[in-house]
Amino acid sequence: MVQLSGITPSGHVQLGNHLGATRRWAAEGGADDLYFVSDLHAMTTAHNPAKLRSLATEQLAVLVATGIAPDRVFVQSDLARDLGALTWVLECTCSYGEAARMIQFKEKAKGQAGVRLSLLTYPVLMAADILLQGADEVPVGEDQRQHVELARTLARRFNSTYGEVFTVPEAVLPPTGARVKDLADPERKMSKSARDEAGVVFVLDEPDQVRRKIRRARTDGGSIPAYSPGSRPGIANLLDILASCTGGDPAELAGQYPSYGVLKDAVADAVIEELRPIREGARALLTDVAELERVRKAGAERAADRGAHRVSAALRLIGAA
Ligand code: ATP
Ligand code: MG
Repeated sequence: MVQLSGITPSGHVQLGNHLGATRRWAAEGGADDLYFVSDLHAMTTAHNPAKLRSLATEQLAVLVATGIAPDRVFVQSDLARDLGALTWVLECTCSYGEAARMIQFKEKAKGQAGVRLSLLTYPVLMAADILLQGADEVPVGEDQRQHVELARTLARRFNSTYGEVFTVPEAVLPPTGARVKDLADPERKMSKSARDEAGVVFVLDEPDQVRRKIRRARTDGGSIPAYSPGSRPGIANLLDILASCTGGDPAELAGQYPSYGVLKDAVADAVIEELRPIREGARALLTDVAELERVRKAGAERAADRGAHRVSAALRLIGAA
């Protein structure tokens, strides 16, 4: 059973990514599961090449420092040749209408000038990501279900038209963890691509930055902590974060803090401790260029080895190579 999960280097990895996804990948992932930094997916809208390259490297270092075995992590663009070939094969298996009806495409393209063709075809690249690795399961949120559905359709269609090559993948619900909210705007979730970074704690932030951001977190009136996500989302978010870092129950934790100030200090301490090994490990890896290169190569080679036979079989069966 192979599960495949990706993270897009659209910004620095943030606390929500860690608590909601990457920490679980490291702790709960099966021996055959694969994780990748989807840098090719970060090029479907305006992007900065140098920044993208450094974000992708940084994310790889964070994933490894979080505890994911290096041979289970890879950077998508290290497989660009195989993925490019497979994307073409799958584009020749996909109708224009199927791509154009993707809700994400319609939403992201709406009202925009100069929409990149890759924004339309990116779900086909995503299908290639999945089918190349022979993934059985793809844990995705609601917004990506339609794309996994397309990957299923293309796998089935290819297999029945040209010959059995692909595992038909299934979308599965990721385990539901706490949804971390933006500290400055707790109505929204914390995001690495947020325009305003004041309310976003990044995994690689220095401890004093983390503390400053948490001290400035919005706290919806009142002064005694109580857990009430509906009416006091700011405080509830801080309690959720604390519970997620220390393993307690947010409603019970609320009673242990006499004031917002004391609570915020406790949250800052917990987050700093939670992130410390990752920050230190990632920073060490990022300065050890040879080790980082070795880790990156090992992951890429393993992923390429897994998928190579599918690319050659698919090309052969469709009438090429
Ligand atoms: P972007 O702003 O580019 O969408 P993001 O921070 O939302 O970035 P994704 O790359 O969309 O991150 O998601 C990576 C993983 O992190 C997914 O599994 C997603 O569910 C999880 N995740 C993202 N934000 C949060 C959050 N605030 N709380 C919990 N989990 C989160
Ligand atoms: Mg997102």
